[in-house]
Amino acid sequence: MLIAAGVTLAQIQRAGLLDPVDARILVAHALGLSRVQLITQADRALSADEARRVENLVARRLQGEPIAYIVGEREFFGLPFEVMPDVLIPRPETELLVELALQRLPPDGSLLDMGTGSGAIAVALAHERPDATVSALDASAGALAVARRNAERNGVQVEFLQSDWYAAVGDRRFGLIVSNPPYIVAGDSHLSQGDLRFEPASALTDHADGLSALRIIIAGAPVHLQPGGWLLLEHGYDQAAAVRELLNGQGFSDVQSWRDLAGIERASGGFMPV
Ligand code: GLN
Repeated sequence: MLIAAGVTLAQIQRAGLLDPVDARILVAHALGLSRVQLITQADRALSADEARRVENLVARRLQGEPIAYIVGEREFFGLPFEVMPDVLIPRPETELLVELALQRLPPDGSLLDMGTGSGAIAVALAHERPDATVSALDASAGALAVARRNAERNGVQVEFLQSDWYAAVGDRRFGLIVSNPPYIVAGDSHLSQGDLRFEPASALTDHADGLSALRIIIAGAPVHLQPGGWLLLEHGYDQAAAVRELLNGQGFSDVQSWRDLAGIERASGGFMPV
């Protein structure tokens, strides 16, 4: 047994079993306490039942399960999102895509988020821009169920579509298209490390050269964007030049890449000339 009855929260944090921040999050979750309540109760001894609950969560974390899946939640763009293994855990670097979209979405514009997963991008945009008409698609019914709950939870209207990329989009056009598609190359060692081991492979990798989903999205965008509409894409650290070439090849204008807070070219895009 890792955690016995009678142990205090402060002792668990000091034990060095896990990262102290992780320990605090897991204990708070197991006991149903807020972070502030946790601080004021740091010297309270756990009951046998509480110790069992904490131990169960700590054991999962020690097996490598991501904190966000254990507690079922992750914050993105200042909003709370439910997450579970049907969806990728929203990453802070993806907030770049939301910021780029906010700068380029015309007033009362419509936008489409492709491969929405937890709905993080679509819901954050709908929350920031109540004037916009927001649509989001995903091939996974499980992901769409999570995304719907996240829209509801954050009080925004999003139209959700189950669709394999553009398959169910028909001939609709949007003022902006945004996507964080699976872009990790098949066999990349990161897929078998850390949090990624627990996340849906279909959200991470195209099982090919890493560019196949990006190619499909870019190739279809000209007939699904209104004149002047932007396409904004997240991609891997070494894919910016390849993505710009694909965008130029489809006739996009003002093609460029943007760096995330780590200085990595993380997103690229361009607009359809009028
Ligand atoms: N940014 C994720 C990672 O490298 C990958 C997400 C994706 O493929 N869209 O962990």
